[in-house]
Amino acid sequence: MNILLHVCCGPCAIYPVTQMLNDGIRVSGYFYNPNIHPYREFKQRIQGVQQFADLTQLEVDIDTKYGLTEYLRKVVFHEHERCSLCYRMRLEEVAQKAKKKGVDAFSTTLLYSKHQNHECIKKIGAEIAEKYQIEFYYQDFRSGWQEGIEKAIEINLYRQAYCGCIYSEQERYDKVFSKKKQTIKTP
Ligand code: SF4
Repeated sequence: MNILLHVCCGPCAIYPVTQMLNDGIRVSGYFYNPNIHPYREFKQRIQGVQQFADLTQLEVDIDTKYGLTEYLRKVVFHEHERCSLCYRMRLEEVAQKAKKKGVDAFSTTLLYSKHQNHECIKKIGAEIAEKYQIEFYYQDFRSGWQEGIEKAIEINLYRQAYCGCIYSEQERYDKVFSKKKQTIKTP
């Protein structure tokens, strides 16, 4: 089997790629993530993916176009459902590319993350497979969560502190701030 794997970042690629290779699957990667902001973070994640690809000889196609505007046009006024829009935007692109390349299926490293809405990704993957008539390769890669983290630390791969979009970046600081507030003792 030959799969085009959507790669969201270096650390999330480790376990799925390892598993696929162990299963005898031919895999190539595609970094397409207009949801990652700001630009400096976007560049840093690309470097992480490149580092991982160099280390493992993974063939990876990296879309270096910074997609802030494209992403915002999809989600503004629909922030409450932004993650499903974001999954769909990325997987649609990957499915179309997979179809053009003539591979057997497409998949995504998002299926590895415990922080993502796994069931939503699975559902959208199946819908897009139907739409473009190409298989969505599904596997619950979350079982390798710890293994992936340990490997990322071992190879000194950049590990991000938030999901990607400017909303998730804000939430990161909201959480830090509310934790700090809880620890401040009242007199
Ligand atoms: S939190 Fe993550 S998945 Fe959700 S919209 Fe932002 S970047 Fe996309």
